[in-house]
Amino acid sequence: MSQTKGFKGMNRREFLKIGVAGTASALIAKDALAETVQQLASDQFAFPKPVYRTLGRTGLKVTVVSFGAMLTPEPEVMRVAFDNGVNYVDTARRYMGGRNEEIVGQALKGRRDKVFVATKTQPASIAKADIIKDVETSLSKLGTDYIDVIQLHNLDSGERIFIAETKEALLKLKEQGKVRFFGVTTHKNVADVLNAVVDDQDRFFDTALVAYNFKSGKEVAGAIGRAAKAGIGIIGMKTQQGGYSTSALGAISPHQAALKWVLQNPHVATTIPGMKDMSHLKEDIAVMGMLKFTSRDERILKRYNAAIAPFYCSFCGKCESTCPHGVEISTINRSLMYAEGYKSGELALTTYREIPVSASAAVCMNCPACTARCVNGLNIAEKMERARIILA
Ligand code: SF4
Ligand code: SF4
Repeated sequence: MSQTKGFKGMNRREFLKIGVAGTASALIAKDALAETVQQLASDQFAFPKPVYRTLGRTGLKVTVVSFGAMLTPEPEVMRVAFDNGVNYVDTARRYMGGRNEEIVGQALKGRRDKVFVATKTQPASIAKADIIKDVETSLSKLGTDYIDVIQLHNLDSGERIFIAETKEALLKLKEQGKVRFFGVTTHKNVADVLNAVVDDQDRFFDTALVAYNFKSGKEVAGAIGRAAKAGIGIIGMKTQQGGYSTSALGAISPHQAALKWVLQNPHVATTIPGMKDMSHLKEDIAVMGMLKFTSRDERILKRYNAAIAPFYCSFCGKCESTCPHGVEISTINRSLMYAEGYKSGELALTTYREIPVSASAAVCMNCPACTARCVNGLNIAEKMERARIILA
């Protein structure tokens, strides 16, 4: 995901402009990458020829860099993307309290037949009536009469893959022509969710939107490969590791290198980096013109990784069994990332408020000593305290 505000409070465009005049990191030469930065900062940006891959058994040919709309306040940014070949957009009614789907709907006017639209049911919806209501509300907000990919939002285990009532509702919507394909989304226990999609006897779900980036372990990559081979269309999200700003790279942005890393995996059909404004769009879209992951990209990611390691959480959820009070540590950390990486207080609060109070960071106030352990050595008590300060 791309950051909204970057380097010392500047937005990405400002960051890039300063980068052109500034001094690049000692470890990364001011050569081709600096030229790319310069190109992005100029107004003569040339949109690359779109690159397509097939989204699993849906057969949809989608651009490898697609549009994550969750933080985009202006339909114009999406219109420019669609008019330059980007043909897949991902939204959810939950984003911006419903406004995000409306903004996507405005961008789709006159372009609906050129773009595949993916949205999500509400995270808590399981019952038939709730799923149907979610989809009908989304259709109305999006101003369309069909959704290409309807996704069950934010699964953290395989359990919901098998709920008959949910499947019944989705099938009814498909029969009515209101949805075309079924998907799931997952940030936590990604491999378990993907494996459940594949192991489902019905093979009901067509796509999976999964958190995947250069920090992801072999388990996730293996599950992605297995699912893709079973015909599940894989869409990568959280591809840019939270979009945290860092001065460790000098003028160089890690976003393109991070996206290229993900797209090296041929099992990933597309990615949906969040693009808030034109500078984000140009930076991310440019990747389609230079897909090859280079040794320079590798060095950039190494530096970026080192810079964010002290606070980056991969949402693996492995710490949660070590907290005796059932605190939803990974979701709390994801809320923090929305606040501190994406700089979206609204999304951070929406996510945090969905956690029951009994599993929120407030619980830690009555806990005499933190026993929760992070597999990556993060100080969990400190993160929970920060969440209370920022989000409670
Ligand atoms: S302080 Fe640590 S162990 Fe205690 S409730 Fe919070 S996360 Fe769990
Ligand atoms: S705090 Fe550590 S163990 Fe817990 S979800 Fe994050 S990375 Fe995983």
